[in-house]
Amino acid sequence: MTRRNTPPGIMNLSSRGRAPSSELAIAAPLPRDISVSFEFFPPETEKASATLWSSVQRLAPLNPSYVSVTYGAGGTTRERTHNTVSRIRNETPLTPAAHLTCVGATRDEVDAVARQYWAAGVHHIVALRGDPPKGANRYEPHAAGYAYAADLVAGLKKVANFEISVAAYPEPHPEAANAEADLDNLKRKIDAGATQAITQFFFNIDTYLRFLERARAAGITVPIIPGILPVTNFKRVAEFSKRCGAEIPTWMAELFDGLDEEPEARKLVAASLAAEQCRALSANGVNQFHFYTMNRADLCFAICHMLGVRPEPITKAA
Ligand SMILES: Cc1cc2nc3c(=O)[nH]c(=O)nc-3n(C[C@H](O)[C@H](O)[C@H](O)COP(=O)(O)OP(=O)(O)OC[C@H]3O[C@@H](n4cnc5c(N)ncnc54)[C@H](O)[C@@H]3O)c2cc1C
Repeated sequence: MTRRNTPPGIMNLSSRGRAPSSELAIAAPLPRDISVSFEFFPPETEKASATLWSSVQRLAPLNPSYVSVTYGAGGTTRERTHNTVSRIRNETPLTPAAHLTCVGATRDEVDAVARQYWAAGVHHIVALRGDPPKGANRYEPHAAGYAYAADLVAGLKKVANFEISVAAYPEPHPEAANAEADLDNLKRKIDAGATQAITQFFFNIDTYLRFLERARAAGITVPIIPGILPVTNFKRVAEFSKRCGAEIPTWMAELFDGLDEEPEARKLVAASLAAEQCRALSANGVNQFHFYTMNRADLCFAICHMLGVRPEPITKAA
């Protein structure tokens, strides 16, 4: 991947030294190779499908390491996830990763889906326990199913030698007994064969960095890639954050205050906030980012551009 030369001011920034103010290139692209991946969800309607495909096409030239497609809560999008993943595999040069959950299916059913993916050339699975279906407020393992993500990872590894990503939680998962138990769970998932983790979204950089430190101290050595959520709808994100335990810092509420009826301004703020977040992470040695695109390309394209990730010619993987 070719990247432009490092601007002098940025070298100073990334080494965390104080640069003379005349040298500070505040918004220059980042110095090192940044690798990105994008998450999409399977569309429900023709219109949503058109939006998704134009977003995939817009982001593809940024040469993401992979693009992942979610699995609806309760396994409700099984067919649509499969169709979207297959279409990405067959019609684009991108490497797809299929999300797969434990919810509402027997082990045999999950294994059969995994076998289908492997046969179709989809070799990367994002393995999750999954959220309960709408209306159910508690997760209940299926009697004949994989109970937790660690069990699913072990099962998938028996099906084929998948590359497997799992979820990680800088702010502990709401059902975890405590942060330590949650970290033990992440370790179990890695020990079962997962090759990397993608985090739940977060807004406090220190929260992620402290989590990373604790994970490394616990012997977790695989990449733990920050999940970046560009916030287009602050109210909805605040609501969702309550449920998944992600803290919304006061400064962030203030940043979006008064923008409820200002969608264009909100987008600009969202792009700049996410780019700042990535730049701060990069200054701390992080160079992989996973974007929750919400099937929209414009913000992620702009954020990647600000990070120095530019379109380049792509060739279809074998
Ligand atoms: C990157 C990412 C992608 C996601 N994609 C999807 C998706 O496509 N579809 C979807 O439905 N959801 C998705 N989710 C949400 C995810 O399914 C939920 O957060 C879910 O509640 C937990 O899934 P998990 O894989 O982290 O579960 P697990 O790792 O199994 O952990 C779930 C909880 O159970 C606890 N636990 C684990 N093992 C045990 C045990 N043996 N006994 C007792 N407690 C245990 C853990 O500490 C944790 O609190 C995603 C989340 C992330 C971060």
